[in-house]
Amino acid sequence: MMEKTDILSLTLPEVEALITEMGEPKFRAKQIYGWITKGAWGDEMRNIPKSLKEKINTVCEFRLPKVKLKLVSKIDGTIKYLFELIDGECIESVLMRYEHGNTLCISSQVGCRMGCKFCASTILGRVRNLTPSEMLGQIIAAEKDTGEHISNVVMMGIGEPLDNYDSTVKFLRLVSSEDSLNIGLRHISVSTCGLVDGIKRLQGEGLPITLSISLHAYDDEVRSSIMPINNKYSIDELLSACRDYFDATGRRISFEYTLIAGKNDTEEGAVKLASVLKKYMHSGIHINLIPLNEVKETKLSTSKNVNAFKNKLISLGINATVRRRLGSDINASCGQLRRQSQKESL
Ligand code: SAH
Repeated sequence: MMEKTDILSLTLPEVEALITEMGEPKFRAKQIYGWITKGAWGDEMRNIPKSLKEKINTVCEFRLPKVKLKLVSKIDGTIKYLFELIDGECIESVLMRYEHGNTLCISSQVGCRMGCKFCASTILGRVRNLTPSEMLGQIIAAEKDTGEHISNVVMMGIGEPLDNYDSTVKFLRLVSSEDSLNIGLRHISVSTCGLVDGIKRLQGEGLPITLSISLHAYDDEVRSSIMPINNKYSIDELLSACRDYFDATGRRISFEYTLIAGKNDTEEGAVKLASVLKKYMHSGIHINLIPLNEVKETKLSTSKNVNAFKNKLISLGINATVRRRLGSDINASCGQLRRQSQKESL
């Protein structure tokens, strides 16, 4: 039997081609596309004739991620979704409410193979890559579930987006297209643990997203001890690639730095961090300090250390902010819920 086409992975012109091939008028494609990007399919597509729906069903499949579990924070309204995919694998997305609108944090892979020591998503390795439609589907499913609009997307959920490069780029083109969700690329952040070859490729794609680098260390010794990727690409190679990216695209890069007690959170470390960043990046350095969510043996820095670290960076002329901890009552940080559900099913 021929495998059905995953309709959410198609662009509008591709759906138009499919519809015209069926001998149906082209305008139907736009109607159908309008429905699928709202998460509607089958009987929900009210203005589509039954005969056409039946025809499409024979060649296409609508694979919207299913809400398997939904947790809503009583503190700040953050919503954490555990989504089930077509093959039963699960991923997580988090909807965060900010004054400037709703941001959805999406996953890019089932699991992750980067091995960062402090991260829950990577503990059991990578199962598979997500398709572009599964990335898009997380946004559509969250909008359908809440009835609210999502205006910003961050690729900071489970997985390493640049380890799933082609699907990530395809997703970015789909989600930002006017026919689809029309979310501006300037409202999308792609976070990477530092796959230098991916950063170099991304530079030439002409996608004005915000690139976030998970730096988490001020020298190679500390970075290699918590992030295995640093054995492949040193800080020098990573920050050189960041400098080139900025020079070529004019897009500012944001650096993420998770503070781990006794590892990378001293004031002396802040001085070293400021100095290494200034060496490569000439302007507009922004550091997002992330209070650690404790995983395995890693320990959260005290708020005193976090503040001292932040103030030190600021005194050295670096723009540093501490990320608000949203949804702390619902395990809102990456990978925690999927792991919990795996443990429960064992
Ligand atoms: N693989 C990508 C995107 C996913 S992780 C990346 O590495 O950037 C999103 C962010 O959360 C990264 O900065 C990551 O280092 C950070 N993170 C992972 N585990 C964390 C934890 N336990 N506490 C705080 N931040 C964590």
